[in-house]
Amino acid sequence: SRFYIGVDIGGTEVKTALVDENDKAVFAQNIPTESEKGYVHTINMIANQIKTLLDDNKVSLSMVNSIGIGIPGLTDGKSKVYMAPNISWVDIDIKAEMDRHFPKTRVFIANDASVAALAEHHFGAIKGAKNAVMITLGTGVGGGVIINDKLYSGTNGIASEIGHLIVGENFYNCNCGNNGCLETYCSATAIIKYAQRLFVDSPCSKIIDMTDSKPENITAKLIFDAYKEKDLMAKIIVKRFVTYLSIGIINLMNVYDPEVFVIGGGVSKAYDLFIDELEKEVDERLTFKNAPRGKIVKAKLGNDAGAIGAAMLGLYM
Ligand code: BGC
Ligand code: ZN
Repeated sequence: SRFYIGVDIGGTEVKTALVDENDKAVFAQNIPTESEKGYVHTINMIANQIKTLLDDNKVSLSMVNSIGIGIPGLTDGKSKVYMAPNISWVDIDIKAEMDRHFPKTRVFIANDASVAALAEHHFGAIKGAKNAVMITLGTGVGGGVIINDKLYSGTNGIASEIGHLIVGENFYNCNCGNNGCLETYCSATAIIKYAQRLFVDSPCSKIIDMTDSKPENITAKLIFDAYKEKDLMAKIIVKRFVTYLSIGIINLMNVYDPEVFVIGGGVSKAYDLFIDELEKEVDERLTFKNAPRGKIVKAKLGNDAGAIGAAMLGLYM
């Protein structure tokens, strides 16, 4: 039988799946991306991760149809990564690197959020939707756009770069170099950065106790935990996140008019905590208040969507 490998390179971790012909997936143990050690290191680690996953499941490389890789950045869809802002990759020939490890295996690359959208469209929350927009909220903010049942990536792959929609003026710059990107308001990184900033002059917050007064210990999960307990500082942080996410959604609505928006990525674990506020702010900001609008749903495949979607590249390309 044939197998498909899918690799999801995240800002902090790499997730790898082995998918069989019946769409059954098994996962390798996640490895840290360690982007600060350079891309060659990360790719060597990924190659090891793949080899271990195959060994553990007694699958030989000759039984592997293809390796698909979800890249947290802009690619040419063939071999080149132009820029992956959150792991500092610029102009990398990832296919050449993979060929050194797996010279006989086909390798496909695509944007991480786009492949997540592919998986959600095939198995998940947007199955059956003709037009849909996926927003992934993780280390960065990613986008995947489905138009007429097909992934739309534009002329140069930039079409779904939702995270870099400029929606304001922020107190720090985005890793892409610009200021005011959606990603700097709505990613896990952004929520943490804003909390750390508030930390300085908000001495009474549960978040401060939960982190032993160490701002470097703040995580997105911690902020949402405090939000659940009605902590005032957490409320301010989540409110700002929701406000900008609603602005992003309105902009996307006015461009794509999808049937459905699907929210994925690590931050979507807190979906139930923010969705009511988000719906409210989206409705308040609607441009065309008397027209119907796309609904908002939570991703079904959770954090697995990227790796599964990457494996699916071998089926479609
Ligand atoms: C990148 C996107 C990516 C997203 C999520 C953004 O900073 O520009 O290509 O999909 O992060 O990883
Ligand atoms: Zn940006």
